[in-house]
Amino acid sequence: MTAVIEVRNPYTGKRDYSFEDPAPADIVAAASHVRRNQPIWAAFTLDKRLKCLEAFAAAISRNRDAILAALIQDTGRITVANMELDALDAFIQRTLKDAPAALAASQPQTASVPIVEGSSNHKPYGVVGNISPWNFPIILSFLDTFPALAAGNAVLIKPSEVTPRWVEPMRSAIAECPELADVLGIVVGTGQAGAAVVEQVDAVVFTGSVTTGRKVAEAAAKQFIPAFLELGGKDPAIVLASADIALAARTTTFCSVQSAGQACQSLERIYVAREHYEEFVDLAVTTAENLEINYPDMDTGVVGPFIFEDQGAIVLRQLADAKGAGATIHCGGELLNHGGFWMRPTVVTDVTHEMSLMQDETFGPVMCIMPFDSEDEAIRLANDSQYGLSAAVFAGTVDEGREFARTIHAGAISVNDAALTVLIHEFEHDAFGLSGMGASRAGLSAYTRFTRKQAVMVNVADQPLLPTAFGKTGPN
Ligand code: NAD
Repeated sequence: MTAVIEVRNPYTGKRDYSFEDPAPADIVAAASHVRRNQPIWAAFTLDKRLKCLEAFAAAISRNRDAILAALIQDTGRITVANMELDALDAFIQRTLKDAPAALAASQPQTASVPIVEGSSNHKPYGVVGNISPWNFPIILSFLDTFPALAAGNAVLIKPSEVTPRWVEPMRSAIAECPELADVLGIVVGTGQAGAAVVEQVDAVVFTGSVTTGRKVAEAAAKQFIPAFLELGGKDPAIVLASADIALAARTTTFCSVQSAGQACQSLERIYVAREHYEEFVDLAVTTAENLEINYPDMDTGVVGPFIFEDQGAIVLRQLADAKGAGATIHCGGELLNHGGFWMRPTVVTDVTHEMSLMQDETFGPVMCIMPFDSEDEAIRLANDSQYGLSAAVFAGTVDEGREFARTIHAGAISVNDAALTVLIHEFEHDAFGLSGMGASRAGLSAYTRFTRKQAVMVNVADQPLLPTAFGKTGPN
């Protein structure tokens, strides 16, 4: 019997949507459908595949109002929902621009032994599974999907069960592009559907928690398929003594609480040169107090509700534990129950690395600030984390910032700004530590990682190479 999953609205707290959790056979059918059509898609020229993606951008635009309305219900926020749909268009435009350079076959060239000419081709895996979380439901379902499709793969998306409403109107947009509809499927379901997807695909890209990422990696390893894991973070910002303190305070506060902190690249640990510490904390508290929640008017404020029902309680637990161990909460820090749950921007000081608030991902609108007395101490504190997603450095000069950035154990460092990976995608970066595994989702690797490289080596002489190298042309 199929289970009916009731879905909670994060703004009202009401369970106002439901779906039937698919049985494993439904996942097999969805995967078989796109698998059947994938060879046809892969045989299209790249130009034709890109034209299909361009047509999809137009279809999304035609269906934008319905998709947006559903996404607003899913996430309880209007501005970010609009940004997600704008980003979708930007992803497609970027794919049109970058895929040809990334996926071109290399021209035959003479090898180190001159009688051989070689070249490399990119061969798609086949079907790529894309399992995504609830914090940016649409962006994280498509960021890796377009490169995978451009590379000639079919894609089966399994979005989060917490935010499934956008899928139905998105399917209408997909249906307007028949060739794409043959190779792009979306299955709404819980974690068991995600596990079933992993069993049906040839490569998987997973964005979500470390706990689930580990299960996905284990399942993928059993099948000998690659798993690209985009996991959590505990991003630090380091504000050096030479930095523009007002700029650093404004930027780090915003990037700690934007999207209610429900972003993997959210800044969760801020280390400030002791001489500017008090001024910095004052500025952060003033900035935080001026950032409003989007209740009772969803169209105002910058801090939306917790999307996942239990997230507020998780944040509250970390704060209570820290407070019990001596932390000071300057503003925010309370769970506001308006049906949905909100927390005002929260600034915390007197924290230590013994607190879970400074070790575990918080995923809430919480900014923790600690002073440091030397740059060595700042480096030690910033790198004292099991995560290594991204980081920010604020310095007086570009050279100083660039130099300091190299000391940080994380894949993407913003200098004199924060969270630049949200908008800048051309520079390759890996996730360090528990933040992930697999080739970069940014830069040209975003495309090539969904292919296997095939070398074609042609002997252009009439002498076979190996026997000649052995000094023999006949059997031993
Ligand atoms: P989650 O791990 O709970 O769920 C993610 C997805 O995995 C969901 O679709 C879920 O249904 C599915 N799933 C659950 N069990 C599964 C299984 N056994 N096999 C396959 N799929 C399964 O994550 P979440 O709570 O939805 O998302 C929040 C997390 O995502 C945070 O840790 C955040 O940092 C991380 N995240 C990372 C990035 C990044 O780019 N690195 C971006 C956004 C979010």
